[in-house]
Order: sequence, then structure tokens, then C-alpha cells
Amino acid sequence: MTEHFTAPVTPATTERVVVVGAGPAGCTSALFLADRGVPVTLLERYVAPHPLPRAVHLDDEVTRILHGLGLSEQFLARSRPASGLRLLDGRHQVMAEFRREQTIGRHGFPQANMFDQPELEELLLSRVEQHPLIDLRRGLDVVGIEGFDDPFTAEPVRVVARPVDGRAEQTFTGRVVLGADGANSTVRDLVGVTMQDLGFTERWLVVDVRADRDLNTWDGVEQVCDPARAATFMQVIGNRYRWEFQLQDGEDEADLIAPGALGQLLQPWTGRSDLDGLEIVRSATYTFRARIASSFRVGRVFLLGDAAHLTPPFIGQGLGAGLRDANNLAWKVADVLTGRADPSLLDSYDAERRPHATALVKRAVTIGWAMTGGQDWAAAFRRVFLAAACRSTKFRAAVASPSTPPLKTGALQQTGRFTRQPRGLRVGGLIGNALVTTDGSGSARLDDVLGQRTAVLTARRPEPGLVDLSRRNGFLLVRVVPAGRRDTVGDGWVQAEVADPEASGLAGLLADPALAVVVRPDRVVAAVARRPHLPALPWSARTVPAPTPSQNAL
Ligand SMILES: Cc1cc2nc3c(=O)[nH]c(=O)nc-3n(C[C@H](O)[C@H](O)[C@H](O)COP(=O)(O)OP(=O)(O)OC[C@H]3O[C@@H](n4cnc5c(N)ncnc54)[C@H](O)[C@@H]3O)c2cc1C
Repeated sequence: MTEHFTAPVTPATTERVVVVGAGPAGCTSALFLADRGVPVTLLERYVAPHPLPRAVHLDDEVTRILHGLGLSEQFLARSRPASGLRLLDGRHQVMAEFRREQTIGRHGFPQANMFDQPELEELLLSRVEQHPLIDLRRGLDVVGIEGFDDPFTAEPVRVVARPVDGRAEQTFTGRVVLGADGANSTVRDLVGVTMQDLGFTERWLVVDVRADRDLNTWDGVEQVCDPARAATFMQVIGNRYRWEFQLQDGEDEADLIAPGALGQLLQPWTGRSDLDGLEIVRSATYTFRARIASSFRVGRVFLLGDAAHLTPPFIGQGLGAGLRDANNLAWKVADVLTGRADPSLLDSYDAERRPHATALVKRAVTIGWAMTGGQDWAAAFRRVFLAAACRSTKFRAAVASPSTPPLKTGALQQTGRFTRQPRGLRVGGLIGNALVTTDGSGSARLDDVLGQRTAVLTARRPEPGLVDLSRRNGFLLVRVVPAGRRDTVGDGWVQAEVADPEASGLAGLLADPALAVVVRPDRVVAAVARRPHLPALPWSARTVPAPTPSQNAL
């Protein structure tokens, strides 16, 4: 897949955003803002990136977000597709399998991708460091925020940072501040947001191993549902493997990591009780928690990533949720700061992201519950129940779906105005990332055509009213047609030939020229209208000048 990417060198606004924390969520939001012409000050406590492996899995929806940063090719070169998730019982018999397609799916990428978090952070940071509109300052510990409760139009928010080398405190200013400073977020504390406990707190030992041989294991993620010792196993990439073991009360890392004990724990996968040929890259004890911030926004401060939500890693969605936050928030902040949208658009960030993040944390807790049924009197009952649940289509659908839930409220058309939404065009869901060609040029993805803009998609030859609506709002108007159809293109719109309508979920749109669909820059379907109605924009936009070439990717 070709990645079309042009970083703007001139700012589209004089308003600056301060992002706290240069982890994956902070870097992603900084890049999305800067790519839209918003200058960013990125403050990071540590002088060097975090070296330890943590996240190892990203789904296709999130890989698509990396594509929006121009990084998917490099990410795919450093990752591998995986076959999904298996629940095993204590004897390692398969109780349920939730498959993921390794081939290219609806979003243009394999559904499950294994990777190494430090390598992803390296990719993000190398773009951050080269971006002319991002000022990355390392060695600065943010300790204060002032003026964040003042109205949007008031003086900028002031962020106070203490240099770790003991120099005097420094103050940075921004129209808005993004708190992407991780699980123990200082920003969250400074604005008075608390975390709500979603009912999961467990200590787990995480062991990363490099093997001198192929262990011939299944290539997906295995979750061992054994109340005596729940465990997770996966091959990461190449000869790197990850095990995670639940720690019992009173146990500590040293009890399990001693060579004899660890050899026994790994035996079901290695086939031997010693550690010959295995290099322990690192071991660490983590407390896995399920928590959600009481609010993702206070005044002009927004929380994202682990600062806003914490999940047990059982479905590999923690880092992904942070990238979803960044993707959801950045275009809104950019549109507001460049005068394209009213500041009320920013209210939709909490309304959209908090329920979505909560749903995924709860999905992970369900898997955790299945794995760690406990050792009390009810455990035997739960195991029987789990075995039955694994056979239930409802449970399987809840856990197995490769898609995350659609957004229900926010900057979306209200339900009722148009209720019949064709498959793949549900308001609040993601539009398929179809394989397309434009003007007889080589194949690309729909995302490459849409670039960073809000778009209107329709299969009909756009009438003057639709062209005018798109032009007035600065939207890209795209007519989608079946592959091979070469109609003349009119003024004010582009034409995209769709090569994979069924696979991408665009068949319903192609089949019904009466439809017109508004797609936001984060690829969420915002509105669906049927002729003679024109799509109504579910947020307050302002008339804007024509976009600059860098905002139009093709
Ligand atoms: C064992 C394990 C396995 C996991 N597996 C997965 C997985 O498979 N898939 C997945 O999606 N996720 C997974 N996760 C979760 C994932 O690692 C985190 O969700 C992700 O790192 C969070 O990114 P972030 O940018 O929000 O926060 P962080 O990565 O924590 O970055 C926050 C940054 O803010 C900086 N900072 C903090 N305070 C300040 C301050 N006061 N001033 C300035 N800077 C500050 C920090 O130094 C840090 O650089 C896993 C986590 C663990 C522990």
C-alpha cells in the first residue's frame, strides 16, 4: 500500500497545543495536530524513550490510524499477522477459538498484528523529531497547570514544568493541553479527575524470552483459564516470546522466576523443564487494573491514553485505545483552532471516547474473569459456566468480534432522522477502507483519497446542491463507482473506482445512488442522508477557505 504523506511546514494557526507525555498517545496526537498545521509543544519527563516491551498487539482499526500518520508500511515491516485468540483449560485443551483473518480485511490491514512497543515508539518519535511544527522538550516534569478552567477565548493555559536536571521551572502556554502522561498521570491529578474502578486488580508476572529455536507453538494468543494459575502466552515476533502468569496472594516475582520454577511454568510450551536455549530478556511484575477516568475533559485540558483508561492487557487494546483517543481528538482540536468548527465540537470527545474505552476495558475484564475464575467455592461453578458460555453464540460474538463497538453519541447524526442504514454505513461506525483507483492512477486505499479531511461519499453524479454543500464546508466530495467505470469527472468532486465493494463494506453505498454519507477525518460515519435530503452536519462548522494542497492527500 502506498502511503501518501506531506507534513506541513507552515502553521495553519498561531494557536499552540501543549501535549504532556511523549509515549504512544502523546506522540500520535502531536503528529496528527502538527500534520494539520497546528504547532505543538510536547513535554516529556524522561531524557530517553521507555526501553521495556509492553504492548505486543494492535488490531486493524488501529493499524489504520498508523497509516494516517504515514507509518503503516514501516509498522507492518516490523510486525507479523496473528491468527487470533484461544481460551485453553487448565490441561491446555482448547475451549474456544476467536479467529482473526491474516489476509487484508475491511480496514486494509490484517486483523491482529504482533509487534514490539519500543519499535513502534521509535517510529513515532523519529517522525516527531523531524516534524517542523513539533517542539519536543525532554527532561521536563510537568508539575502545574493554570487557567485551564477559563473560557476557550481567555488567555492560553499555562503549563509549569520542572527540569529534571535541577534548573529553574519553565512555563509553556497553549490554547488547549492534552494530558497523555500515562497511568500515574500528573495532569489528571492537577485537574481533579479521579479514576473509577471497573472491578479488576491483579498482580501478574510478565516474562519476555528470546529462544534459540522455534518453539512450534500456535501463532495466536493463548489464554490459559486455570484457576490454579491463569496464564497468557504468545509468540511476539521472530524468536521473541511472551508469557504472563497470575501471581497469587503472598507470591512475588522471585518465587516464579527462579530457573527451576520458571522452567516448570514454561514446560507446556517448551516441552522441557529447564531453560536451555531461552534467554530471559526481562521479567517484571505489573498490577493489571481496569479503570476509567470520571471525565476525559476538564475545561481546556483533555486526557488520553493510559491517563484516561487502564485495562488488563488480555485483548491487547490498551495502547490501541490511546491511539483511538488521539485520532478522535486531534481533528476536532485542529478544526476548532483553525476556525473550521465551533469549540462545542470538543464536547464530543468525552461523549464518544469514554463509552468506547469503557466497553473495551469491560471486554478485557470478561476475558480476565474467564481466565482467573478464582479458587473459591464458586470457581468450579464458574468453570462449568465458562465452558457453556464458550459454546454460546452471544458470548462468542461479544468476545470474538474483530470490530470495536460503534460510537453512540457525539458529533453524529441523531438516530431517528434516517433510520435505515445499509450494512457498512452505520452512523458511529467506521467506513471501510476500500481499495480504490482515482483518475486511472495506481491503486490506493480510500483513506489515501480522503487524506485528513471530512468527506461526503456518494455513488451518484453529484448535483449542484451536494457540490455546494461540500465546497461551503471545505469537505472533499467523492463519487464512488464500480471498478472499471470511467465517467467524466465534474468540477468540485473526485471519482474513486472501488475494487473490493463487498470486502470493504461499500457495496451498499455503490448499490444505492440515493445515499450520501458524511465521513469524518477519523473515518467515523457521521451522517447518512437519502435524496432529496442533503446530509446534515452534526456539528457546527464554519465557512472556511479552500484547503491547502497538503490537506488533500491525492
Ligand atoms: C505487560 C503489558 C502488556 C500490554 N500489552 C498490550 C497490548 O498487547 N496491546 C495494547 O494495545 N496495549 C498493551 N499494553 C498497554 C500499553 O503498553 C499502554 O496502554 C501504553 O503504553 C500507554 O501509552 P500512553 O502513551 O498512554 O502512556 P505511556 O506509554 O505510559 O507514556 C506516558 C509518557 O508520559 C510521560 N510522563 C509521565 N508523567 C509526566 C510528567 N509529569 N511530565 C512529563 N511527562 C510525563 C512518561 O515518561 C511517558 O513517556 C500492555 C501493557 C503492559 C504493562
